[in-house]
Amino acid sequence: MNNDKKNRSPFKSPLLIFLAISIIATVILNVMMLSLQSPKKQEISYSDFLAMLDADKVDEVVITQDRFVIYEKIEENGAEPEIEPRTDSFMRSLGLDVDAALDKVKQNSRRVYYTGYIYDERLLAQLDEKGVKYSTPIQNNSPILDFFLTWILPLGIIYLLFFLLTRSMSKRMGGGGGIMGIGQSHAKMYSVENSTGVTFKDVAGQEEAKESLDEIVDYLHNPSKYKAIGAKQPRGALLVGPPGTGKTLLAKAVAGEAKVPFFSLSGSEFVEMFVGVGASRVRDLFKQASAKAPCIIFIDEIDAIGKSRDNQISSNDEREQTLNQLLNEMDGFDSSRGLVIIAATNRPEVLDKALLRPGRFDRRIIVEKPDLKGREDILKVHIKNVKTEPDIDLREMALATSGAAGADLANMVNEAALRAVRMGRRTVSQEDLMEAVEVIIAGKEKKDRILSDKEKEIVAFHEVGHALATAVQKHTQPVHKITIVPRTMGSLGYTMQMPEEEEHYLMSRDEILDQITVFLAGRAAEELVFNTKTTGAANDIERATLLARNMITQYGMSDKFGMAGLESVQNKYLDGRSVSNCSEETKTAVDNEIIRVLKECHDKAMRILVENRDALDEIARYLIDKETVTGDTFMEIYKSVKDKRRGAEFGDNDDVKD
Ligand code: ADP
Ligand code: MG
Ligand code: ZN
Repeated sequence: MNNDKKNRSPFKSPLLIFLAISIIATVILNVMMLSLQSPKKQEISYSDFLAMLDADKVDEVVITQDRFVIYEKIEENGAEPEIEPRTDSFMRSLGLDVDAALDKVKQNSRRVYYTGYIYDERLLAQLDEKGVKYSTPIQNNSPILDFFLTWILPLGIIYLLFFLLTRSMSKRMGGGGGIMGIGQSHAKMYSVENSTGVTFKDVAGQEEAKESLDEIVDYLHNPSKYKAIGAKQPRGALLVGPPGTGKTLLAKAVAGEAKVPFFSLSGSEFVEMFVGVGASRVRDLFKQASAKAPCIIFIDEIDAIGKSRDNQISSNDEREQTLNQLLNEMDGFDSSRGLVIIAATNRPEVLDKALLRPGRFDRRIIVEKPDLKGREDILKVHIKNVKTEPDIDLREMALATSGAAGADLANMVNEAALRAVRMGRRTVSQEDLMEAVEVIIAGKEKKDRILSDKEKEIVAFHEVGHALATAVQKHTQPVHKITIVPRTMGSLGYTMQMPEEEEHYLMSRDEILDQITVFLAGRAAEELVFNTKTTGAANDIERATLLARNMITQYGMSDKFGMAGLESVQNKYLDGRSVSNCSEETKTAVDNEIIRVLKECHDKAMRILVENRDALDEIARYLIDKETVTGDTFMEIYKSVKDKRRGAEFGDNDDVKD
């Protein structure tokens, strides 16, 4: 949809390019310097030099700070440089000084030696005596020239190369020109007609959010209406919610509905290596956007720049500058022209307070995970894109996907379509949809993993243990399906529970305890039937423990601690990790309490299974045979076994009949 990929060039970090260029330039310069040092000189010892002097072989000596450079005399009978007579007369006719030129050539053809400098009082007298020319070069022709050559020139070359490179790069990235291009925003303009094309119809199940945004749409349509009455529109709206709930989609829909340009930018794109780049990007973005107003600026993942500035441990100058610039611009722009900023985040708690104050992102719009109705609506939106059989039941699918976000649901519909293709069908069936739900929840079926008969038996009893605990207890959701087909995400079998009606938002203490009992009933079945403990219960134990812990530390449901909040949740919209608020002693006591609750629930699970041993055996047998049991079949067998049991108990009493 948008061109994110374009910006991912391999030359991501300007610093790296800079380094590379510097190194290359230095090498080139050095090679050039070396090649300039001609003709080749040969080193000799000082005594050799004196010997040469004695033998009258020295023509000239140049004394520098650290050496004597010795020019050897050209032997009289050696080859003289010559030119052809015709050329000679031609050159003379042009007025060129051929003799001087020949002399020069001759001079340059002298052999050159050098030797280290030695302080020698007699040397000058000796040179005079032999009639040798000697001189010393004047040091440093000009300090300014020198400075220019050693410092300015290399830097200039590097700068030039860098300039050329960045320009060709930013051309490729579609940005502005030259080194200044670093600072230019990468905002992508979406022309409404052919690009976002998203409207509120495409966003399902977020009615409250849409309502809040509707006002912004209306305002963008007609800013003067609001201006006339003196009403100020909110400058910014912050979309807050877990990943995949449709925040980005909603922002696009606002632009689509209002038919205004949509500037979108991700928070992390602001923050780069160079300090000041982010800030200049912000400035540029607002400049471009004001020119196009009315329009929408969308900043995705704003927590990347909007992190609270008081965090001392990891302070980041660049981020702070960027944030300050953003705050500045938000104060500065004239909202009556119809510029609206929408930002999205799933970590509202880390945002800087200054961002949230009135006049900035003062409107907070919560985008929650969808409820049953919402999920059904979202499925309806996405199912339109695939061909289906006429009898599909999206409500059943919505019931089975409690806790799924919009993105998950979109993914499931696509997964179902893929399965239909794999099966060689032309339309998506209900079976495809429900299988897709399971694939997303538990992974793909692993038909090739063969369990040994013994293992299969254990898994079957384990799962039926869960299912029975569900069926016997009052405060649980009914069983939808039991299966012992292994899945790619590690489970060897599982029991799927599914609410019959609208899910509920509150969970009572009884429900939690019953749910813990259901989790622990798998292990209880292993113990009861095979007198063994397997690793298959690890995940059950984890979930049961978490539930018990939350019940005690967050929901105030234990008699021992009452309503003390012993833990609080961080990152509510992400992993929901909790941090402890209590002393070490209390922590220990909490652990003990958790162990006690789990033990009670385990005992209860064991009791249930002992009482229903006949049903356990019967259903497990059936499951081993068929590998998958639906919730309905499960309940049928369970009821018939129960009836049989009653019949046996009251077999000789005709009055008691159910
Ligand atoms: P977020 O920005 O909240 O992480 P996105 O807006 O990127 O989530 O949603 C990802 C995808 O999930 C969307 O492109 C869309 O296909 C689907 N999706 C999410 N929420 C909804 C919704 N409420 N209605 C329809 N589709 C949705
Ligand atoms: Mg997003
Ligand atoms: Zn289990």
